[in-house]
Amino acid sequence: ARLLNIRLDPLRRKMIKVGMDAEASHDHLLTAEYASLLALEFNRNPVVNDEAAFDIFPPPAHSDSSTLPLRPPVVTIMGHVDHGKTTLLDTLRSTSVAKGEAGGITQHIGAFSVPVQTNGSDGSQPTITFLDTPGHAAFSAMRARGAGVTDIVVLVVAADDGIMPQTREVIELVQKEKVGLVVAINKIDKPGVDVSKVEHALLAEGVQLETFGGDIPVVHVSGMTGQGLEQLIETISAVAEMQDLRAEREGKIQGYVLESRVQKGLGAVATVLILRGCLKSSDHIISGMSHAKVRVLADSNGKTVKAAYPGMAVTVSGWKELPKAGDEVLQGTESEVKKALANRTRKAEMEATLGDMDALNQQRRNERELREKEADAAAADEELEETSDKSEPDIKELKLVIKADVSGTVEAVAGALQGIGNNLARVRIVATGVGDVTESDVMRAKAIGGMVVGFSVVIPRPVQTTAASQQVTLLSSSIIYRLMDEVKERVIDLLPPVI
Ligand code: GDP
Repeated sequence: ARLLNIRLDPLRRKMIKVGMDAEASHDHLLTAEYASLLALEFNRNPVVNDEAAFDIFPPPAHSDSSTLPLRPPVVTIMGHVDHGKTTLLDTLRSTSVAKGEAGGITQHIGAFSVPVQTNGSDGSQPTITFLDTPGHAAFSAMRARGAGVTDIVVLVVAADDGIMPQTREVIELVQKEKVGLVVAINKIDKPGVDVSKVEHALLAEGVQLETFGGDIPVVHVSGMTGQGLEQLIETISAVAEMQDLRAEREGKIQGYVLESRVQKGLGAVATVLILRGCLKSSDHIISGMSHAKVRVLADSNGKTVKAAYPGMAVTVSGWKELPKAGDEVLQGTESEVKKALANRTRKAEMEATLGDMDALNQQRRNERELREKEADAAAADEELEETSDKSEPDIKELKLVIKADVSGTVEAVAGALQGIGNNLARVRIVATGVGDVTESDVMRAKAIGGMVVGFSVVIPRPVQTTAASQQVTLLSSSIIYRLMDEVKERVIDLLPPVI
C-alpha cells in the first residue's frame, strides 16, 4: 500500500474484489505475479525484477551417481553418557595424528579423518571422517535442517553398563534416518564384563547383530587401551563400501558448517564439511547471512590444504561474519554471492518485521486470555466463598493451588498440607493438578489471593516472571517436609497477634 501510495483498506477491498481473499492479510507475502496484477489494477506499470529473488542453490544432482568418484564416509559416534564416546574419539584422533604427518598438531575443529589400510585397488589412501562432537548435538542440528550429513552411526555401548535410555534413543534414530549402523561394545578391558549379555540385550531391542545372523556388525573395543580400534575402522570402511558413497570432486560445492569461532589472526573461521564439489582458496561461498572469499583451508591437523573434497572437513577463513553451525554452505561467483546475500538480508529484515507483528499479536492474545482466566477464577472463587461455611467467619485461610508431578503425589501432597492449621488459621486447597506450574495456575492463585505450591515440578521462567509481576508466591520443592514447614510458617503468619 505504501508503494502504491494508497491506504491499506482500499487495497484490501481491491484484492478481495479481484479474488485475492486469501492474500489480503497484512502479513502475506505476495508473489511477483499477484503484486504485478495489483499494480495494474491501480494503473501502475509493474516491472518484475527477477534478481530481487536471487539465491544460490546446491549444484544439480548428477544423472548417474555410479560413475562419480568414491568419497569418505562421515561417521558420528553416539551412545549413552559415560559409555566412552569422548575417550574413543580421542584415541581415534591420536591414531590419525600418529599416522599423519610429523609435527601435526591436533586441533579440535569438529571433525577429523582417520586413514584406512589401503587394499591396493587404486593406490589412493581411503579415509573415514569422524564428526567429533559426541552425542546428538551436531547430528540433530543438521538433521533439523533436513541435511543428512552422517552416513554411519557408531553406537557405543559400555559392556559394564549395557543398554541405557540414550542407547535406545540412538537405535530408534538410526532406524528412522536409515543411516548405516555399527555397534561398538566398549570398555572390554574391564575385568568380568559379559559382552555376550550386551549382545543379547541389543538383539532384544531389535538390533539384528551379525553375531546372530543379522546384518549389523558389532565390534568389541576399548577406547582406553585402543584394543579393537583397527577392527572398528575396517568394519566402518566395509559398511561404507556397501553404501557406495560417491560425489563429484569438481565443480561448485555444497557443504555444512560444523562449527565456527573467531581465531586470533584469522578472524571468523568455520569448519566446513564438504558434501559435493571442490573448494579452493579464493572461491566465493555463502552460508546463512555470512559470506567469504576463502583465504586459508586447513585440515584437522592444522595443515594448510590446497583444496577440499567431498567427505572432508576443513577450516575455512575469510568470512565476513561468523557463520552458524548447521548452516548450509554454497558456492557462486562473487556477484552471485553478493546478490544472494543482499536478498537474504532483505528477507531476514522482512521476516523480523513480521515476527515483531506476530509477537505483538501473541502478546495481546496472552493478555486477553489472562484477563479472561482472572475473571473466571474470581467468579469461581466467589461461588466458593458463598458456599463455604458461614459459621466460621473469622477464620483466616492460606489458599493453595497445588501442582505435582504425578497424580498419586498430588493427593499425597494435598493430604499432608490439608491438615495444617487450627480453628483460627488453616490451609484451604482451592485447586490441584498434575504437571508443571503454568500461567493459569499463577492467575488462579492471584484471583483467590493465594499461592502456588509445586511438588517435584518445573516452574518455567516465564511463569516465574508472571508470578513475580503479579506478586504471587511460588513454593516449590521435591521434599515434602520442606513444603509442609514453609506452609506452616505462612499459616502461623496469618494468626492474629497475641496481645
Ligand atoms: P562419554 O560420556 O560417552 O563421552 O564417556 P567418556 O569418554 O567421557 O568416558 C566415561 C568414563 O568411562 C571415563 O571415566 C573414562 O575414563 C571411562 N572409559 C571410557 N572408555 C573406557 C574403556 O574403554 N575402558 C575403561 N575401563 N574405561 C573407559
